[in-house]
Amino acid sequence: MDQLFIPKKVSICEVAPRDGFQAEHTWIPTDKKLEIIRLLARTGVQSIELTSFVHPKAIPQLKDAEIVTAHALQTEELQGIKFRSLVPNVKGAQRSIDAGIRKLKLMLSATDSHSISNANCGVEEAQNALEPIINLAVKHNVEVGGSISVIFGCPYEGLVPLRKIIPIMDRYRAMGIKEISLADTTGMGNPYQVYNYLGVLKEQYPEVTFSMHFHNTRGMAFANAVAALQQGVTNFDSSIAGLGGCPYAPGASGNIATEDLVHSFHEMGIETGIKLDDAILAAKKVNEMLGKKEKSSYMLQAGPNSQLSKRPDKQQKLESVN
Ligand code: ZN
Repeated sequence: MDQLFIPKKVSICEVAPRDGFQAEHTWIPTDKKLEIIRLLARTGVQSIELTSFVHPKAIPQLKDAEIVTAHALQTEELQGIKFRSLVPNVKGAQRSIDAGIRKLKLMLSATDSHSISNANCGVEEAQNALEPIINLAVKHNVEVGGSISVIFGCPYEGLVPLRKIIPIMDRYRAMGIKEISLADTTGMGNPYQVYNYLGVLKEQYPEVTFSMHFHNTRGMAFANAVAALQQGVTNFDSSIAGLGGCPYAPGASGNIATEDLVHSFHEMGIETGIKLDDAILAAKKVNEMLGKKEKSSYMLQAGPNSQLSKRPDKQQKLESVN
């Protein structure tokens, strides 16, 4: 039997400031957002999805996108970190470019039902609206990547067959997009499916760089990450303290927690460039700052493998047995 494929290193993009914050109903003051972003920078993470330039009425939590961006770009300790933003439309793209972000991520759903609930139109119409955003990015020499939400499963339609994904990929390629984030938005994908879908996509689109955005809604995120590794995909999103949720299942877990992903990869001998201790510390602080009482990741619950317990004293053990 072949060996498991273990790359030397992977790249992780921290998405808490966008995916995590947008799921928080209580307003997080801008200063607090920036403090969290500085905590994230201290973990050594190299890229951060900083915010989303959506209409303030759609997601009031991110209405300070411009201010957050301006401060982040000026903060000394954040220099060298690659920021990207999520943009839903041309207006958002223009705002993001004006704010100084050099990389945009496009939004697109794999199914009509999810697209209608998210973008108020079906997939095809949503795709038509991407072209002007891409043109704008190209004009300003700003990088632009695509994304496909609910790629493995849709909360309205269930399993999303691969044949639905191919035309979406073709359209992205026709528009010149070379980097695509595949998002298991509601944590419905399983490792077998991830492995199979990626096998086909990698073969049909060898020039595309894929990155994986796994939510841990049903505990399958890390298994899915390992399945993606087996197809040579080494770019992953994660969120500190597992911040973020699932709008279709209140109380369910959100993105895979950064500290859990880092710990699991490190245990497998895979470098992430992220300092695990600092990530665990950041997760603790972020939960405190947001008033969260539950220990929202395995690292916060159990600690890393390296944190050993005191060996039992033989005599004491015997006494406690009796
Ligand atoms: Zn997400």
